[in-house]
Amino acid sequence: MTPDRTTMPPHGVNLTASPHLKTALELAAAGVPVLPLRAGKVPFGNCRTCAHGACGGRPHMKSAGTCHCPAVCHAWAAATTDTTVITSDAWASAWRQAAAVAYHPGGAGLTIVDLDNADAVAWARQTLPRTRTVPTTRGEHWLYRGATRSANAVRPGVDVKSLMQYARWLGPGTGTMAALPPAVRALVVKEETTPAPGEVVSSLPERATWDRTVATGCRHTDDYVRTGLDRGLAMVRARTESGAASQAFGVARFLGGQHAQCPGPCGLDAIGRQIVAAAVSVGVPEDYAHRAVTNGLQTAEESAE
Ligand SMILES: [Zn+2]
Ligand SMILES: [Zn+2]
Ligand SMILES: [Zn+2]
Repeated sequence: MTPDRTTMPPHGVNLTASPHLKTALELAAAGVPVLPLRAGKVPFGNCRTCAHGACGGRPHMKSAGTCHCPAVCHAWAAATTDTTVITSDAWASAWRQAAAVAYHPGGAGLTIVDLDNADAVAWARQTLPRTRTVPTTRGEHWLYRGATRSANAVRPGVDVKSLMQYARWLGPGTGTMAALPPAVRALVVKEETTPAPGEVVSSLPERATWDRTVATGCRHTDDYVRTGLDRGLAMVRARTESGAASQAFGVARFLGGQHAQCPGPCGLDAIGRQIVAAAVSVGVPEDYAHRAVTNGLQTAEESAE
């Protein structure tokens, strides 16, 4: 029997009407901080007071503020195990519209290696110690005990989600959870000690922007390259809240793919530097941005072969 929505009380807990809230309370009881996700499986937007960071952010955010907003503002930073908050009136409307439950892995002392596709899963099976795994739409979440910093696009199709990140709850998964291995910690702290293939850091002229003089072997018109680049940079710059590194990865992969059939050189390193700069301008640490873009260009190259 489905409860008639029109007779539901405007506030308060109705577990029958909100299966996601029921899941969230079970997770919270197990010490896992939770938050609702809206349609599209993304966090609810900030309330008017918190919009565009006007409130300064919550105290435990990277740029710490004094926000104690009772609503589900600030994405992962709203996650909590406090059942009073989770069942509050301020969260009730979010639960009624919720499309999924998310959790803050770092807050639960966990790290998720988020493998986006079959190639990424194959890489993990060869490289990482067995642990608890959860199937996702196209790949798997590998869960490890222990928290670490998060990083997007540490390899093609691989994100590390722990501190200051949320992940969709897709069930408890199967297998025994292992301790966070050094191999995963290395992915998120690795310094760029060796130049990526095709890139000779020390000898390249540090051109700030792409132009024809660095793309002597490109079969495209200047307009074509510039239009694509401008659109890509705008997409990265629009990610002011989150996801800029993933976006930079996607843009690099897309723009790199445009030149898969060119004899080259196409000035892809200059294009890459502009994407990195765009990501840095919206708060992505430079080493993350650089890694995301390098991986994106490499993925374009590999999938063209
Ligand atoms: Zn708010
Ligand atoms: Zn706020
Ligand atoms: Zn080209």
